Amino acid sequence: MPEVPTPPADAARHPFETGLDRRPANYVPLTPASLLSRAAASFGARIAVIDGDRRVTYTELDARCRRLASALAGRGVRRLDTVAILASNIPEMVEAHFAIPMLGAVLNPLNTRLDPPTIAFSLRHGGARVLIVEAAHAALAARALAEMSAPPLVVTIGDGGSGDGVPYETLLDEGDPAYAWKGPEDEWQSLCLLYTSGTTGDPKGVVYSHRGAYLQALGNAVTFGLSDDSVYLWTLPMFHCSGWSYPWACVAAGATQVCLRKVEPAEIFRLIAAHGVTHLCGAPIVLSMIAHAPVHERRAFAQVVRCAVGGAAPSSTIIRTMEELGFRVTHLYGATESYGPATACLAQPDWTDLPETGRYERMARQGVPLATLDAVMVAEPDTGEPVPRDGSRIGEIRLRGNTIMKGYLGNPEATERTLADGWYATGDLGVWHPDGSVEIKDRAKDIIISGGENISSLEVEEVLLRHPAVMLAAVVARPDETWGETPCAFVETKPGLDPPEADAVIAFCRERMARFKVPKTVIFGPLPKTSTGKIQKFVLREQARQLE
Ligand code: ADP
Repeated sequence: MPEVPTPPADAARHPFETGLDRRPANYVPLTPASLLSRAAASFGARIAVIDGDRRVTYTELDARCRRLASALAGRGVRRLDTVAILASNIPEMVEAHFAIPMLGAVLNPLNTRLDPPTIAFSLRHGGARVLIVEAAHAALAARALAEMSAPPLVVTIGDGGSGDGVPYETLLDEGDPAYAWKGPEDEWQSLCLLYTSGTTGDPKGVVYSHRGAYLQALGNAVTFGLSDDSVYLWTLPMFHCSGWSYPWACVAAGATQVCLRKVEPAEIFRLIAAHGVTHLCGAPIVLSMIAHAPVHERRAFAQVVRCAVGGAAPSSTIIRTMEELGFRVTHLYGATESYGPATACLAQPDWTDLPETGRYERMARQGVPLATLDAVMVAEPDTGEPVPRDGSRIGEIRLRGNTIMKGYLGNPEATERTLADGWYATGDLGVWHPDGSVEIKDRAKDIIISGGENISSLEVEEVLLRHPAVMLAAVVARPDETWGETPCAFVETKPGLDPPEADAVIAFCRERMARFKVPKTVIFGPLPKTSTGKIQKFVLREQARQLE
């Protein structure tokens, strides 16, 4: 076989490297903020956001975001300053996802379901310089701020706030609707900060980059089939992983976003019918609420509504009911660390030959990487080598690519542990199937996921241990038809003391933690321990599974 001729060795640079340099004409750092400028310039009159009777066009959204960015700059917010926001799914939340990145500042959406001390922790840890608060959450914000010695500048959205903050619209009036924002010089610059309760007590601050968010937005738009005639309903909290990137994905596609403050089935059906909603996302609890909505709360609609579900696998009952009601379910898997969805359970050609139960079983798999993720694998825990793709050998699910977090803010040890060896170690245990899809079987990390919210079992145990009668406490997940899982507490009381009533322990917890973290079940008795005295949580997990 003749070989290709060797190029001359004397050329200083290869022709493909000469005169073909990176320059402003052909290299612009990726940032999700640019998606809005492009949308406004390309189809400005189209409706970007619907909120009740209010319609915001892309031109208006762009101008409001530029106003907010420039007004914050005028108030002294600089590149990499943190701007926190405590709000439900309202238009201002969408605005924050563009305005703060325009400024090169870091957006820190806060979970409105958390308790004041946890909110205060995030504000302090993230170094928030500004806190934007929706009036509905003003009381929560005030209690958190009261715990801070150096509180941030407060901006209030809507009426009924404490009166201390700068009204959001007043701030916008200070801004320039034509503000020429610059974007980051380096697409690796930090963009968002999202706190997630991990396995240890304090929440960890996951940091996203402009590049990662841009790619994640495009990956989701492609996978979930968003286009310029899509209408996206906000059933997923935008404070979760930046709404899985959908504030940006919808704008990339030129779709319309419909706001929703509270997840209630009657309102969901009403909005689906009224606005021709085509897409929505949520934890299985959202689908479960839709599927089990009383008949009088349902509305008929002509379009197929695509639902992306993540946070836990959807049950076959839910998928079947949703399909009967005119929805089409897509199963996604990911974590805050992977900007939300990292894999999707894509339908395979051979599914059409499967009986219904077989198809639902396949749909419960966590699936294959989104187009913008580099790879997924299941690793042998000891060696890190891939397990065989046999659908039975259990290992840890690992992810790699441009849509994996930069790391945890101010926590290099946890960052190092989680992103070691070229992979993000998810702490989820699963198998790898011959068709390339992964399937979760268990969780190595000590978290409970209830209604899509993470609960650190350690955090609940710490509170239980403060009860005067409690000597030892272990909290595990108990499977639950509605919530996916609920916290189940096993408690050993101090010698000589009678166990308190379960209800009294639950009330004790309720006063000291966010409502969704409170154990639903409390069981008293000696806890199973190893020879070294470690509580055998796997035994308790099994007991919790067996409870009637
Ligand atoms: P999210 O808000 O996307 O649920 P979190 O960081 O709060 O992200 O939780 C991530 C964890 O949730 C994952 O590590 C995994 O244990 C669980 N999880 C997410 N999606 C799924 C899914 N589709 N099936 C089973 N578990 C899931």
